[in-house]
Amino acid sequence: MSQITVRNVSKLWGATAAVDNVSFDADAGSFLVLLGPSGCGKSTTLRLIAGLDQVSSGRILIGGEDVTDLAPAKRRIAMVFQSYALFPHLTVAENILFGLRVRKTPTAERARRLDHVASLLGLRALLARKPSQLSGGQQQRVALGRAIIAETPVCLMDEPLSNLDAQLRAEMRREIRMLQQKLGITMVYVTHDQSEAMSMGDKIILMREGKVEQAAAPDILYARPETVFAARFIGTPPMNILTLEAAAGGTFITGSEPRVLRNSVASLLLGVRPEDVTIGGDGIPARVTNIEFMGADTMIACAVGSQSITASVPGKAALKPGEALHLAWRSDNMHFFDAASGRRRDDVAADAMRDTNNTVQNAFA
Ligand code: ADP
Ligand code: MG
Repeated sequence: MSQITVRNVSKLWGATAAVDNVSFDADAGSFLVLLGPSGCGKSTTLRLIAGLDQVSSGRILIGGEDVTDLAPAKRRIAMVFQSYALFPHLTVAENILFGLRVRKTPTAERARRLDHVASLLGLRALLARKPSQLSGGQQQRVALGRAIIAETPVCLMDEPLSNLDAQLRAEMRREIRMLQQKLGITMVYVTHDQSEAMSMGDKIILMREGKVEQAAAPDILYARPETVFAARFIGTPPMNILTLEAAAGGTFITGSEPRVLRNSVASLLLGVRPEDVTIGGDGIPARVTNIEFMGADTMIACAVGSQSITASVPGKAALKPGEALHLAWRSDNMHFFDAASGRRRDDVAADAMRDTNNTVQNAFA
């Protein structure tokens, strides 16, 4: 089996660490996503696994074997890059078969595998064409075909869909995920797009400035972000983060009433997802500042005290900028973070829930 283990891996370029003591595991046959903003070290991590760059320190294991000092060709991995890197003068069939030919795979075996891959990827009718005669999506499929025909147990992909338009991207996401499951490949997939990561990954390694910010399954990452950075990076629109103020009689969103906590807790940030904010009834007084109709839902930006909160409501909201309204959320939808470190504080959340006996619908008791 082909589990991948990255253990305390660092990569220095001069004095700066592009990858800084990173550790994670990709289970055999699972889909692991490396997610994070541009420059956080995703591609470098992938290239270290592939052996295209050498680690400064740490070890990399594939299938239990330490491959840290092995040449790329010895690691039994396939790789797909953002630029499809197809040979323009070769046909689709020749492009897909290129690696097998180099490795002198027997002709009959080559034909069998080409047939299999072409039907998997819907490329049968295109085998005689040149890359210039293909659409972007078809070219991407050829690049995928070239990777999977090698039948390696591990596949690495670096932002393979970023050159495609939105609709095709959604289609290819499903296709790649399906192929990975069908073939039982261990996948490490790099993207900066959180929705791609959420929809494809069994596990997400969220990276920031060369370090692992949080490693978790998509649903956990969404429900329990460990830091403000993770909270803001996952979900669209991002989680509202509000500064709180400890005063006599409780903790308040700066510049507003009523309190969100009965206790007075200093140095706290409150996180609430736009989809957890409801409008009307009791709650916190707010004023609409901007409305964005998205089709299935509407984003309503509001001012609360000196801060802003976005609410996402289903359908089209009959509201106008300047209108006054009340915003509320359930106490179990509140996320608390330390204002200085940005780290999650579940001790406060527990207090907030006890506060309302965990039965009150809205956070303002
Ligand atoms: P990502 O893929 O997450 O956008 P990269 O892994 O490409 O990030 O880069 C991480 C950091 O390492 C960046 O600051 C980048 O400038 C730096 N870096 C990457 N490759 C090299 C290189 N060959 N030489 C010097 N610095 C590099
Ligand atoms: Mg990159």
